[in-house]
Amino acid sequence: MRLPDNGAAWPPEKGILSNQRPVTNGFGGGTWGWRMVKHDWTAGLDEAVAELKDIVGPRHVTVDPKRLAAGSRDCFHFSPVLIPQLEDKQADVIVLPGTQDELRRVVGVAARRGAPLTPRGAGTGNYGQGVPLHGGILVNTKRLNRIIHLDAGAAQVEAGVILHDIEKAAAAVDAELRMFPSTVPTSSAAGFVTGGSGGVGSIEWGLLRERGNVPAVDIFTVEPSPRRERVAGADLEGVLHNCGLTAFVVEVTLALAPKTPWHQYAIAFEDLTTCLTAGRELAENDAIKKRLVTAFEWPIPSFFVPLMRRGICPEGAHALFLYTDAPPAVVEPLARGLGGRVTFHDQPRPPAPRGAQLYDYTWNHTTQWAMKADASLTYLQDRFDVDRMHEQMEARRRRFPNEVFEHVEFIKVDGRVAAAGLSIVAFKSPERLAELIAYCESDDIRVSNPHTYFLDDDTRWYGDAFLTAKKRWDPAGLLNPGHLRAMDAA
Ligand SMILES: Cc1cc2nc3c(=O)[nH]c(=O)nc-3n(C[C@H](O)[C@H](O)[C@H](O)COP(=O)(O)OP(=O)(O)OC[C@H]3O[C@@H](n4cnc5c(N)ncnc54)[C@H](O)[C@@H]3O)c2cc1C
Repeated sequence: MRLPDNGAAWPPEKGILSNQRPVTNGFGGGTWGWRMVKHDWTAGLDEAVAELKDIVGPRHVTVDPKRLAAGSRDCFHFSPVLIPQLEDKQADVIVLPGTQDELRRVVGVAARRGAPLTPRGAGTGNYGQGVPLHGGILVNTKRLNRIIHLDAGAAQVEAGVILHDIEKAAAAVDAELRMFPSTVPTSSAAGFVTGGSGGVGSIEWGLLRERGNVPAVDIFTVEPSPRRERVAGADLEGVLHNCGLTAFVVEVTLALAPKTPWHQYAIAFEDLTTCLTAGRELAENDAIKKRLVTAFEWPIPSFFVPLMRRGICPEGAHALFLYTDAPPAVVEPLARGLGGRVTFHDQPRPPAPRGAQLYDYTWNHTTQWAMKADASLTYLQDRFDVDRMHEQMEARRRRFPNEVFEHVEFIKVDGRVAAAGLSIVAFKSPERLAELIAYCESDDIRVSNPHTYFLDDDTRWYGDAFLTAKKRWDPAGLLNPGHLRAMDAA
């Protein structure tokens, strides 16, 4: 189904959303004795390129304009606000080190030459956090793809290892990832840890920063002679979700869970309140183990064309997708008791082909399917007060009729079930989007604004711990410059 034409202004005006917010963290004056090194490093570009080719081999360095443009983008096209702000930004050179020692030497080149340095995994980040705003050297980690050690408890892997490869290797020792983003077939271990927050599995294990999900990471400092440090415990605050800003991650250790034979279900509901209430009850039901509980308001299921075709999502029905260890004999009566009807059950055996998993339609893949159906759609990352979610959604619907559609990922935060929204939004203009965000915040719907590339614009921001880490590991401020208002102000 296509939504009615919403009269979206296109292209949106540059910078409107991200320029509206003041610096809220109190570091705007540069009182903490750190200054970003700003100088034109490109005078030495040819020499730098020669040096980089010496380190990694000529095949793994590119200055070809087309490849620079393609290799500098991430998935910021999910935001109509970010597209005009970021589409012309690109690195001066892209380099792909093949060993950790090559990476260390590449980082040293950037530090000695004062070049901006952007770490890059698979480029599936959604808010331009991996886009080099000031050119410089972009380091793609895809050749750093060795699993160093894996047992039933944890996987220690190089930065560029694809999460799906860890899941496959873990299966051989009867283990699995505790959580992964819906981009699991493509995204890298370091990209997830530094650019993501949680995903499939977060209903059991919470967010990346919780429950020892990431026991340690190994980093290189950005200095002429980069130091290697193992970061663990409280210091991880300076690395998790650092968006490439505080340190270059070279290895990641991810805690694993015992392997579970998951069943996946689609359950249809006639009304949204029943669907969301059922989602919460299943999420809180400790008698069954879960990996995913996702609720969609109609018409969102209509965007899942392959599922509509197969009758998995019936016309007009709100939908709940569930991964649990419980068999149909348990889930079918449970679903009926909650006012729903199981429309699909399957037990996909890994490695299942792409599209065979219902999680391919959840998290931000929901937005991707929506945008495929109607290019004027975008999204908002919003978290409801789970006890007030119906009331908050109803009030928002009244205020923004036919503009916001509910997509809720039930997850655990600090051990409690939370309703994390990736709401689908009919985009009208940057101003209207800003109005929606302001409205949400006024009713205690917590927004992590995906329409700004500044990390310190919202709740993704970790404040002091972050700046302390950056000063310690990136003293010249070369990593991914331009993504912190606090630093620009300084
Ligand atoms: C369709 C879709 C669905 C998604 N679903 C989810 C989801 O379920 N959960 C979720 O959390 N996210 C999700 N995301 C966002 C993103 O896919 C994930 O966060 C992903 O794990 C990022 O991995 P990547 O390798 O693509 O990282 P990139 O996009 O390459 O990088 C992300 C950030 O990490 C930094 N970075 C990368 N490597 C390093 C390194 N070695 N050292 C330091 N910094 C580094 C980059 O500079 C950048 O700022 C989704 C995105 C899309 C497009």
